[in-house]
Amino acid sequence: MSTRPAPAGEASALETAQSQLATAVAHLGYDDGLHQMLATPRREIQVAVPLHRDDGSRVLFQGYRVQHNVSRGPGKGGLRFHPSVHVDEVRALAMWMTWKCGIVDLPFGGAKGGVGIDPADYTPGELERVTRRYTSEIMPLIGPDTDIMAPDMGTDDRTMAWVMDTYSVNRGYTIPAVVTGKPLAVGGSLGRGTATSAGIVHVTAAALKEADAQMSDVSVAIQGFGKVGGNAATIFAERGARVVAVSDQYGGIRADDGLDLDRLADHVAETGSVAGFADADPISNAELIALDVDVLVPAAVEGVLTAESSRTVRARWVVEGANGPTTTAGDAVLAERGVTVVPDVLANAGGVVVSYFEWVQANQTYWWSAQEIAEKLARRMASAYADVSALARRDGVSLRDAATIIGVRRTAEAHEIRGLYP
Ligand code: NAD
Repeated sequence: MSTRPAPAGEASALETAQSQLATAVAHLGYDDGLHQMLATPRREIQVAVPLHRDDGSRVLFQGYRVQHNVSRGPGKGGLRFHPSVHVDEVRALAMWMTWKCGIVDLPFGGAKGGVGIDPADYTPGELERVTRRYTSEIMPLIGPDTDIMAPDMGTDDRTMAWVMDTYSVNRGYTIPAVVTGKPLAVGGSLGRGTATSAGIVHVTAAALKEADAQMSDVSVAIQGFGKVGGNAATIFAERGARVVAVSDQYGGIRADDGLDLDRLADHVAETGSVAGFADADPISNAELIALDVDVLVPAAVEGVLTAESSRTVRARWVVEGANGPTTTAGDAVLAERGVTVVPDVLANAGGVVVSYFEWVQANQTYWWSAQEIAEKLARRMASAYADVSALARRDGVSLRDAATIIGVRRTAEAHEIRGLYP
């Protein structure tokens, strides 16, 4: 089992999440007992996930599912396949999910799962067996009313179909609401595939408007060209922004007049990476972060905006597509430099909003149109941004602190109203 060590002197994802919570708790004046309840996952499970490989050999992975808080409703959160998945990282991601669901006012708590596997090294058949074994190992914890999974890094709609099928076969009937982000053919929702990215663009538009700036005037650089970053590039371009640089784990590219995203999509489909795209210049991920752009969207992994790398940021807005891309020290440097950070728990909440719509539709077995979903998403994101921005102005805190305070407060209210059993 590998861990993702924080750079020297930097906080890990869990330390970052805990320090954000501590700031919110201090602001809200909560006592130590409540702080501890909010800081500690309700339930966690660690499972061994053995795989019979196609060549007959056997390997073993570690898997986790963490339910951070279920006071407002079932746990909700993604399933990550990545070699550096570690229980502490899953705990941090589950905690952020709790605040996120509170910020966009969904009747969910926060959860997260992960398996320490690099999906690029395994065949689709092997990944299906890993997914099914992991699902059956965590079966007692998940369910449409207890804990609902969705795709995250390294997993996709096909993974969710395997989870749903494994769960349903074991229960004896089809239960689409056990996962979200599944294919349309088995009860997925229109608009889910692009929801996180659409939400990022909605909050960017709201942040620009507050500064009297227009989407058509800004340049954008995006780190990560997967489900979130790739779709965000397309939607930013559709809304008139100039997407000048993108990157993935293999490298980055820049074209100051704007990337040709259609041709780039063909290149990525052929090669599996943005690197080597002929109509742009190569750059590293570090160079992308330091580009002279208006909007920087980290949409890959956590911990990329450290104290050191944040000193190189020249963007005026950082809109966090990834979960936890900025460390606590990085945050302080960005604040000092006057960069407005639209935090992950708000900026990337569009995915869980449409996941909620998918869950509602699956429970009702009644489906909404793409337009209905798009409008409902836009309204939720605008209203969440307005709440966060108003609190930030009223109390003179950052958007991150304001967002965390709102998420923490809504969760704590549910605790207080429900009371403590027994
Ligand atoms: P993905 O697996 O589809 O894409 C990840 C992208 O990041 C890929 O392009 C990959 O090459 C790149 N990447 C990986 N390691 C990198 C590195 N060290 N440097 C630069 N690029 C790297 O994953 P995704 O679903 O797009 O998720 C990306 C981030 O967004 C994660 O932090 C995830 O938790 C968060 N997120 C995802 C969703 C969702 O709906 N998928 C919702 C909210 C938040």
